[in-house]
Amino acid sequence: MLDSLGNLKRSKYCGALRASDADTDVILMGWVHRRRDLGQLIFIDLRDRAGLAQIVFNNELHPEAHAKAEDLRSEFVVAVEGRVIRRQKANPDIASGEVEVMATRLHILNNSKTPPFQIEDDVNASEETRLRYRYLDLRRPRPHRNIELRHRILFEVRKALDELGFFEIETPMLTRSTPEGARDYLVPSRVHHGQFYALPQSPQIFKQILMISGMDRYFQIVRCFRDEDLRADRQPEFTQLDLEMSFPRQQDIFEAIEYVMKRACAVVGVEANGPFRHLEYKDALRRYGSDKPDLRFAMELHDVTSFFDPVRALLHIEGNVQAVVAPGAASWSRKQLDEVSEFAKSAGARGVYTVKVTAEGITSPLEKNLGAAALKKLADAVGAKPGDLIVASAAKEQISHSDTSLGLAGQIRLYLGDKLSLIDRSKWEFLWITGFALFEWSETDKRWVSAQHPFTGIIEEDLDKLETAPWECRSKGYDLVLNGVELGSGSIRIHRQDVQARMFKALGLSDEQARQRFGFFLDALTYGTPPHGGIALGLDRTVGLLAGEKSIREVIAFPKTTAAQDLMAESPSEVDQDQLDALGIAIKQAEK
Ligand code: ASP
Repeated sequence: MLDSLGNLKRSKYCGALRASDADTDVILMGWVHRRRDLGQLIFIDLRDRAGLAQIVFNNELHPEAHAKAEDLRSEFVVAVEGRVIRRQKANPDIASGEVEVMATRLHILNNSKTPPFQIEDDVNASEETRLRYRYLDLRRPRPHRNIELRHRILFEVRKALDELGFFEIETPMLTRSTPEGARDYLVPSRVHHGQFYALPQSPQIFKQILMISGMDRYFQIVRCFRDEDLRADRQPEFTQLDLEMSFPRQQDIFEAIEYVMKRACAVVGVEANGPFRHLEYKDALRRYGSDKPDLRFAMELHDVTSFFDPVRALLHIEGNVQAVVAPGAASWSRKQLDEVSEFAKSAGARGVYTVKVTAEGITSPLEKNLGAAALKKLADAVGAKPGDLIVASAAKEQISHSDTSLGLAGQIRLYLGDKLSLIDRSKWEFLWITGFALFEWSETDKRWVSAQHPFTGIIEEDLDKLETAPWECRSKGYDLVLNGVELGSGSIRIHRQDVQARMFKALGLSDEQARQRFGFFLDALTYGTPPHGGIALGLDRTVGLLAGEKSIREVIAFPKTTAAQDLMAESPSEVDQDQLDALGIAIKQAEK
């Protein structure tokens, strides 16, 4: 009943047919998208990678093909031989809409069960169903476009890096733990009983070793694995653009990445010309309340702590108070102001204090406490104009060595920017952040931990403080931010063995622990290591932003759910007892 492909050869993609193809014979292949049976005439929309084409089966002209077309259903796979003709009335909704194909022969190559959802972009199936039937989901135009875009961007990145003299070098997937701060995915070894490989959290150590090997410029589009807590926009395996250079100044790494991003952005017609802006970490926090500020709008923070001194006790304010000025929001209703408060509280505010500045004067619930004159001074200090709303806030939680009021105000800034539509969606604001501290205090571990990873270089003048005042050490690290999203980070590395050994010690590793975990690397460092540095950028996120998608799952062919499951392949899954036996592994009953 089904026909074979035989010697049939496709002559064109359905979606590529144009008016200029009129009066030519074609052979098209694809899936039946839709069928309309008008008796003497049957129309189908035939779909392939490039789009749709309308096919007409005419009972009078080609009765055999017409009779077969009566059997067609959604998602049947067919080959159509026919002639392209101009339509009397073009369909502007599809690219091939000026023409249609008068079918002379139909070959039904395969049938299909009725799909669980329509293969359309405005599909109303849940994401769970979409992921379970990802092969059908990927037939829709938008995922198609995203996957193609991903290919084009990655291909462009490779071309750009090749031009700059980088070699793409693969590093092992079965390796040992790499210190990026997450939990490892472990793979048991059958041959070496009781031993495990770790899947790489990043190729960090290998790429540094490649510099020791004299490869000079390395890159890799590489899968990394981190068993981290579940979060909406995180995948347990994700793709990085990882690179490393020998003898680089920070500026050389920035220039390489700026060139790569320029080329990647050009794929979607976005102009991204370097040099990108630079901000020091502390200035980013002070001005925008974030280490990944969205520079598509201004609304900078103002420290208004001193204005609140008289009411500190009364309002139970601890720490600093930051304010932002929301332009034009003085007209906001009570309900809108309540929503601001609710948002701020959920973001960790102890108190939120609003001040409306209007042509008639200043109104605020703070007036009875602070007095009109102080409010006027406050409004002047933050540069508020009539029509503006000042939103000041203080954080509930205070953490030693950090100012929690900044992060809170940063979130309020983003909330207000969004509500007031201040974010210019046509802008692409790249930003380098530098000047990070080398260590950060871990409340859970009650010790100093690497702010990035333990191979990050130290500003030379601070070397002496490594043992005495680690909190004062500045790092040679940097982050790249785009539109408020951290794309990735990197650093100029430690290339001296003695410094690396001191670094491990500063992190609380004994000589023995350092040797056990990183002995091979410490050894490698002793054989003529060149100064080197690099960076890694999250490509899923980059492509997601360029594709205009909110979720990175939309630009990954086979993503996992937020519960780290592949619903289509049904993994993770249990394995046979034989396999466990071969590995010498017994599964403990989960603790109740
Ligand atoms: N290995 C680092 C990371 O994955 C990036 C780098 O330092 O190059 O975040």
